Amino acid sequence: MEEKTKAEQLREELCMKPSDATKSMTADEIAAADDYCEGYKAFLNEVKTEREAVTYAIREAEARGFVAYEPGMALKAGDKIYQNNRGKALMLAVIGSAPIGEGVSIAAAHIDSPRLDLKPNPLYENQHLCYFDTHYYGGIKKYQWTATPLSLHGVIVKKNGETVTVKIGEDPSDPVFCVTDLLPHLASEQMQRPATKLIDGESLDLLIGSRPLCDEDGSDLVKLNVLRLINEKYGIVEADFLSAELEITPAFGARDVGFDRSMIGAYGHDDRVCAYPALTALFALDVPTYTAVTVLADKEETGSDGATGMQSAFLPYFIEEIADAMGEKGHRVLSRSMCLSADVNVALDPLYPEVVESRNCAKLNGGVVLTKYTGARGKGDTSDASAELMGKFRRIMDDAGVVWQIGELGKVDIGGGGTVAKYIANLDVDTVDLGVPVLSMHAPFEVVSKLDVYAAHRAFTALLARDQ
Ligand code: MN
Ligand code: MN
Repeated sequence: MEEKTKAEQLREELCMKPSDATKSMTADEIAAADDYCEGYKAFLNEVKTEREAVTYAIREAEARGFVAYEPGMALKAGDKIYQNNRGKALMLAVIGSAPIGEGVSIAAAHIDSPRLDLKPNPLYENQHLCYFDTHYYGGIKKYQWTATPLSLHGVIVKKNGETVTVKIGEDPSDPVFCVTDLLPHLASEQMQRPATKLIDGESLDLLIGSRPLCDEDGSDLVKLNVLRLINEKYGIVEADFLSAELEITPAFGARDVGFDRSMIGAYGHDDRVCAYPALTALFALDVPTYTAVTVLADKEETGSDGATGMQSAFLPYFIEEIADAMGEKGHRVLSRSMCLSADVNVALDPLYPEVVESRNCAKLNGGVVLTKYTGARGKGDTSDASAELMGKFRRIMDDAGVVWQIGELGKVDIGGGGTVAKYIANLDVDTVDLGVPVLSMHAPFEVVSKLDVYAAHRAFTALLARDQ
C-alpha cells in the first residue's frame, strides 16, 4: 500500500467531505429509499390540499391506534393522540417515557402549497365561454399556471350548514380545467413584458364550460348551463360559492423523473415532502423517550397567519393540554423542547448557479438539508438556531447514520425566504430548519431526489426517537 502524503493525511483528518447519498448509502438502503418513495407518491396522488392532508393523516393515524384527544383525558407513556384544527391543520403525539417536564420533540411541516383559489363570487360568462374567477395563493410565477390541466378541490358550505366536498379533475374519467394563454403569433406585445407582468393576476381565470342551455333565449346561457350541472352534481346554488374554499391545483399525478428513476416530479412537494416523513417517522415510534409531536400546519405559503397557521396558539394550547394532563406547566414543557421545522430548501440548479453560493447550498442527493437560519439579507425574519442546537442535531443525525448536508436559501443579497421555524422558536422552543432540497420550487411540477426524501424520514425518526 502506498503511503499517504502529509497533505492527503491532513485533508482526511481536517477537511469536510461533501455529502453524497449515492455514495454513502448501501445498495440495500437505496432500495429501501426507492420503496419508501412508492408510499410517498401514493400520498402525493391522494393529497393535494391541506384539507386532504388532514383527512389522510387522521385515517392513517387511527389505523395505527391514535385517538382524538379529549380535554381531561388521562395520558401515559405510549398513548397516541391527535387534535384536528378545523380540518386544515393537525397535531399528533406519542407520549414518551420521560417526564413531560423534560420537554417534547416536535417535527413541524406545512400542508398548504401555492395554488389558485376561487374568488367568493367566481362564476361568470364572457363571449359564450364560462369561467371561474381566481385569486392566487402563495408565491407563484403566474405564467407557469397557464395551458396546463388543472383540478378543483375543496369544500362548499351550504346555508343550512351542510358541507359538500369537491374533488374533480384527478380521476382519469373526470374533466379537467385550464387557464388559457395567448398564441405566440399574436403575443409580440405580451412577450416584451417583464415576467411578473406577463400574465395578469386577473387573467388567471379557469375555463369551465362553453355550451349554452339548449333551446332557450336570453343572456348568460353557458353560465346557466354550468350552474345547472353543478347544482345536479353538488346540490348547490350560485350563492353557496360565498361560503366555500375551492382550490385549483395541477391535475397530474406524481411521476418518476429520469432514466434512472432517481427523482420524483410532482405538484406540492413543498411541503408534503416534509409532512409525509414527519408522519411516517411518528408512526414508526413505539414508546419514545421524549413525547414526540408532529404538527401539520396550514397557511405557511401566505405567512402562517390565521387560526390554522403556525402563528396561531393551537400548538402551545395542545402542549398545555398534554402538560396539564401530566401535572406539569405548558410553558416549562415548551422551554425544554426541541423542534425540527420541516420545510423544503433550494437545491443547486446547474442551470441557475448564479443565485446560490455553492459551498452553502444544498445539492440533490446530498441528503436532508439542515439550515441554521433562513430569512433574507441581514438575517431578517429568521430564528437562527444556536451553535449548541446545531451541535446536538449533528450528533443525533450522525449517531443515527442519517445522510445530511447544510444549505442556505440563496446568495446573501439575492432574496430568501422563511418558514414556520421562527413562530415555534418564539414560543421558547429550540428550533432548527430541516428539509428536502427541491428543484423548481413553487412550480406546478417540482422535483426532489428519492434518496433525500428517505433521508428526511430517517432524520425525523432520529429526532422523534432521540434519547439525548
Ligand atoms: Mn414550504
Ligand atoms: Mn413554499
